[in-house]
Amino acid sequence: MFSIQQKLILQLLFTSLIGITSYIGDRLLQQKSEILRAVSDNFTHATVSGLTWSLILIISKKSVLKNISKVFLCFFIASFVDVDHFLIAISWRLQDAMHLQKRGFLHCSTIPIMTWLFLLIYSKMLNQPNISDYGWIILSSFLSHHIRDANRRGLWFCPFGSTRPIPYYFYLSLSMAFPYFIEFCMSLLDTQQLSEKRIYNTPYVI
Ligand SMILES: [Zn+2]
Repeated sequence: MFSIQQKLILQLLFTSLIGITSYIGDRLLQQKSEILRAVSDNFTHATVSGLTWSLILIISKKSVLKNISKVFLCFFIASFVDVDHFLIAISWRLQDAMHLQKRGFLHCSTIPIMTWLFLLIYSKMLNQPNISDYGWIILSSFLSHHIRDANRRGLWFCPFGSTRPIPYYFYLSLSMAFPYFIEFCMSLLDTQQLSEKRIYNTPYVI
């Protein structure tokens, strides 16, 4: 059981971990080995995504340990996004996947946004809050990956186009602020689910 102060310390810790993990992952991109670069980059995407969902759970006073399967789901979805490099290259060779001229469809932010919207509407129609949970998980894990890639290539909203690459420290700040934004949107849109999960006077349990 944790007090409000301890919850704030955990929020600060996980927010910092998102920034530190991203920063270390970006430094590792400077190494010479292409395989190590690809593996560390993918692991960084996955870890940042897992930390993002953990922080969303902490902010919304949900137990991280009880929801650890969803944290790992975010970890694997963010890692999976880079599979499109291989699909576009029509090859499982890392060399081919790393030297593409165009971006893969899983890097288009319109796709997770539309999926999230569909699942949210579907869950409201069927009165199944669990389905919307998966919508938020998909949105968080894809967008945390896209925000990190946006430092190099911008955010891509197909078919409308892309933004310019996001400046480095703005991207780091955006990654750390992102879980707070998602939790805020969840509290606005998922009122039914939140009324079940948020009991304001109960201590926080990790
Ligand atoms: Zn990527």
